[in-house]
Amino acid sequence: PTAMFEVNTFNPHQTGTLFSWLVVNRGPCEPILDNALDAVGNTPLIRLDKIATEEGLKCNLLGKLEFVSAGGSVKDRIAKAMVLAAEKEGKLIPGKSIVIEPTSGNTGIGLAMACAIKEKEALLRALGAEVIRTPDEEPWDSPRSHIGVAQRLQREIEHGIILDQYRNENNPLAHEYTTGPEIIASVVSTPSTSSRPSSMKVDAFIGSAGTGGTITGVSRALKKTHNPDCIVVGVDPIGSVLAFPDNLNGPNEGKPYVVEGIGYDFIPAVLSRDVADVNHWVKTSDEDAFKAVRTLMRKEGLLVGGSSGSALSGALAWLKTEQGRIIAETEGLNVIVLLPDGIRNYMSKEWFLKSAFSDERSDLAVRISGI
Ligand code: PMP
Repeated sequence: PTAMFEVNTFNPHQTGTLFSWLVVNRGPCEPILDNALDAVGNTPLIRLDKIATEEGLKCNLLGKLEFVSAGGSVKDRIAKAMVLAAEKEGKLIPGKSIVIEPTSGNTGIGLAMACAIKEKEALLRALGAEVIRTPDEEPWDSPRSHIGVAQRLQREIEHGIILDQYRNENNPLAHEYTTGPEIIASVVSTPSTSSRPSSMKVDAFIGSAGTGGTITGVSRALKKTHNPDCIVVGVDPIGSVLAFPDNLNGPNEGKPYVVEGIGYDFIPAVLSRDVADVNHWVKTSDEDAFKAVRTLMRKEGLLVGGSSGSALSGALAWLKTEQGRIIAETEGLNVIVLLPDGIRNYMSKEWFLKSAFSDERSDLAVRISGI
């Protein structure tokens, strides 16, 4: 990452005289990296102070900014782990294998990036040249679903390999070994001061779930190696069935939703619904998610995607519950919200055009873009 500077005091009225800047260099740049895979992960943890203040939170609200990763999302991590592991095991042969993956997009981008570096030919065939769209509304076990089509392609294509993010143990492991430890390292290396008190621990972690690899792996890292009492909260869109207990999913099961990358109509094998791993679940609506994206953009300057909005709106909803309030009202406790990707993937979507512009201009933006 580039070096970051924090401007602690800045008085715009002092024009003509020297501004009183106090510039703190947060550390040297990293040395030269070998390739893009070395720039996967190592994402920053950022204070969401404006939102915390507006919501009346006393705890620290911190966002883990995954769009800073080389391929632009949290899924770079699992793509890298799955490709390197498959290669090591001899299942993926550089220059020969064709990587096929049922994906809502980000895992595909991560895999294409990993393949581009490891094996150029596979890149062209796996992503750029051949993206096969499957209908969202097909149930997961239908031959027309993204999983069904991927399985058919694997049968048809010689040397086809599905790394299978839904079942591949390297998915949660990538988060147990990278995302979780990074969060811990950021929190324990930031001193507690009188103006910014910190428990120096991760007290709660909130993340949206798709395959569930992120929430499961991060939870294991936090609970096993750092703070067994850390509370982990999963966020699941209304319409999906991942939340536990099942009655949370209620009568809206199967109802379509717009937020991408999270929620399913089946329980992926890599998701742990054990309450020891994921203590609580929150259901979120598209409306709340997109409102939260707008808040993150407008208040914190963070150009994040829809599932980041789901994670934030789920976090704020949970912090208002009986268990959450104890955390929200305690100064210095650290609550981490994972922000899985950036707005890059969604800039032509109606929900983005509506939330990015002021209300009067959003209709115009939607009209201009032809949606
Ligand atoms: N947000 C986005 C934008 C994603 O692409 C994904 C992965 N599909 C997730 C959240 C959820 O991550 P995980 O699969 O690790 O649960």
